[in-house]
Amino acid sequence: MGVLQVASTLVAPPLCVACGRGCRAEAVLCTRCSRSLGAATPILARGPQGVDRAWSSAPHDGVARSLVGALKFRRLLPVAGLMADRMHWLAPGHLLGGAVVSVPAAPSRLRHRGFDPAGELAAALAAQLETDLVSCLARRGLGHQVGRTRAERIARAPRIEAIGEAPRSVLLVDDVLTTGATLTSCAMALREAGAKRVVALTFTRRL
Ligand SMILES: [Zn+2]
Repeated sequence: MGVLQVASTLVAPPLCVACGRGCRAEAVLCTRCSRSLGAATPILARGPQGVDRAWSSAPHDGVARSLVGALKFRRLLPVAGLMADRMHWLAPGHLLGGAVVSVPAAPSRLRHRGFDPAGELAAALAAQLETDLVSCLARRGLGHQVGRTRAERIARAPRIEAIGEAPRSVLLVDDVLTTGATLTSCAMALREAGAKRVVALTFTRRL
């Protein structure tokens, strides 16, 4: 967390990422938005197919949604640290065994953005949990899900492949859980590559 705090001081202006009002120089959120985020209720559910359990720190709404947008579209990397903090604090301890694997970005999207929001979040979370971050998945084609309907997203689930041996117990990390189709594709590939337990952790979940 030390490095992320220093980075946020140097890089981010002292404005709240969610509402744009002034806040402490080293803070990502103002006091009011911090409180609002603190009131969001985590969601634990049976995972989509192939995923044992799916846990999200908040519904995809309000301040939590603003943080996802700030990381994804404004590339505010200190936000990944804050999101990982909350996931670490709030997730039930019995879910947190295993190595972290991030849901892979589409190659075209990675080229376009130059960075991978889910990857940043996964790296920050692995550091917090003091566990391994394993890159063993890759995504082929059909990367763009934004703007598609729910039915289209499910029908056009991305093709995910294992590119190495998977850890036995996996914490599969993404920023948002929408239909779960992507998590299912990842879980299938992980199980084929040796994973026995797959728990999905996302910062938000669309309800
Ligand atoms: Zn605010």
